[in-house]
Order: sequence, then structure tokens, then C-alpha cells
Amino acid sequence: MRFHIITIFPDIFDSYLNESIIGRAIKNKHIAIKFYNPRDFVKGNKSNYKPVDDKPYGGGPGMVMRAEPILKAVEAAIKKIKGKKIKIINFSPTGKKFTTAYAKESVKKYTDIILISGRYEGIDARVKKILKAEDISIGDYVLTGGELPAMVLIDSISRQIKGVLGKYESLEEERVSSSEFYTRPEVLKYTPPGGRGKKTKNYKVPKVLLSGNHKKIEEWKQRSS
Ligand code: SAH
Repeated sequence: MRFHIITIFPDIFDSYLNESIIGRAIKNKHIAIKFYNPRDFVKGNKSNYKPVDDKPYGGGPGMVMRAEPILKAVEAAIKKIKGKKIKIINFSPTGKKFTTAYAKESVKKYTDIILISGRYEGIDARVKKILKAEDISIGDYVLTGGELPAMVLIDSISRQIKGVLGKYESLEEERVSSSEFYTRPEVLKYTPPGGRGKKTKNYKVPKVLLSGNHKKIEEWKQRSS
């Protein structure tokens, strides 16, 4: 899977995507990530320089990202794409809600995903019409830009690609997983800070998990999930 990110802030992505599981997925060529900056597609000399954003028609606060630099950036991405199963996504807090089911479907359906990370009030609406892009939201809150949403999608879609997760991690996907996990020590001695008469307490791992009784353990996991 190749991700093509349209963003005016490509540096935001560096540390997150180069660490841990996603970093390894890139090294192992399970995924590839490319950037296209709309700023590189605005004319540069003083006489005809245009910014990437402009005031909205009809008034209102904030700025809107102009259509042309984004369209040119997407064109540059499409030129590089050899596969035919291309999906174009635009991020918007009012778009269709992103889910794990959507991530799984994407792995089956596409070889290349173009992600448009807007800023300011968002992008000129004509971009979506021209490109037949789908509006996707990662949740019911408003962020300052589409870069975090792009990282959320890349992370969630990548871990659905075969080979991206290690053996143990992917086994975890398949079986019943609980929402509560415990690791060593068996008894955690801890003194909660503040308050009068600070007391050390023993925080224990649920007995059933130490019992070795696999049937009981599975039942407990089902109940806690
Ligand atoms: N004017 C818009 C908010 C724009 S937020 C409104 O009132 O609805 C600026 C950019 O951040 C958007 O273009 C989008 O790319 C991104 N963004 C913000 N919140 C998001 C969310 N919940 N999901 C996906 N993208 C989001």
C-alpha cells in the first residue's frame, strides 16, 4: 500500500511515521509514504505569487485553501502511481466516520491512497467534486489540520496489512482480547501521593489470570471485553 499525502506541513509526519511498527513497515516495504506540498505548486516569483490560501467567498472568518495548488499536487501524485486502484480521501470533521472496518476494506480495495490534509477552514469545495474525493472524519471534534487524521488512517490501515504486525501482535488480533491487561509484578505495592495518612496498598492481578485454567481465563476475558 502506498500513501500519498497532500500537506503544507510534511515535517509534522517525520517522527511518528519513522518509529516502531510503522517505521518497520516502511523499511520492510509493506507500505510507502510520499509527500506533495501544495506550496511547491504556487508560482514563485514576486509578480505572480499566490498564497496557498485565500479569503472565503460570502465572507466569514478564517481562510480557505485554494483549489489549484491542491489539484496540481494531486496530479503530481497520480502521475507517480502505477497501480489502478486509487482512492482519494479528503479530511473533514463532518465526513464519514473512519472505523477499523473501513481500514480493512481499504486494504482489500486499494493499492494507493491519496490523503488531502487541509488546514485553516478547509479546502475549496470544488476540489472534492473534481477529484470525487470522499470526506472522512476521525471523530466528533475539530482539529487544526488534516495531518493527525492522515497519521491515524495510515497507522490503522497499515496494521491491517499482512506482515506489518509481528507474529504475536497479529495473533492478538485473531483471538478474544480483553480490555484489561496485567503484567509483572503480580502484586504492585504503591503509595498514592497526596492526602493525609499516605498508605501503601497492594494492587493485585486478578486471581483467575494466575490460575492456569484456560477455560476460566477465556471466560474472564470475554466478560471484561
Ligand atoms: N471549518 C471547518 C473546520 C476545519 S478544520 C468546520 O467548521 O467544520 C481544518 C482541517 O482540519 C480540515 O480541513 C480537516 O482537514 C482537518 N480536520 C479537523 N477536524 C477533523 C476531524 N475530526 N476529522 C478529520 N479531519 C479533521
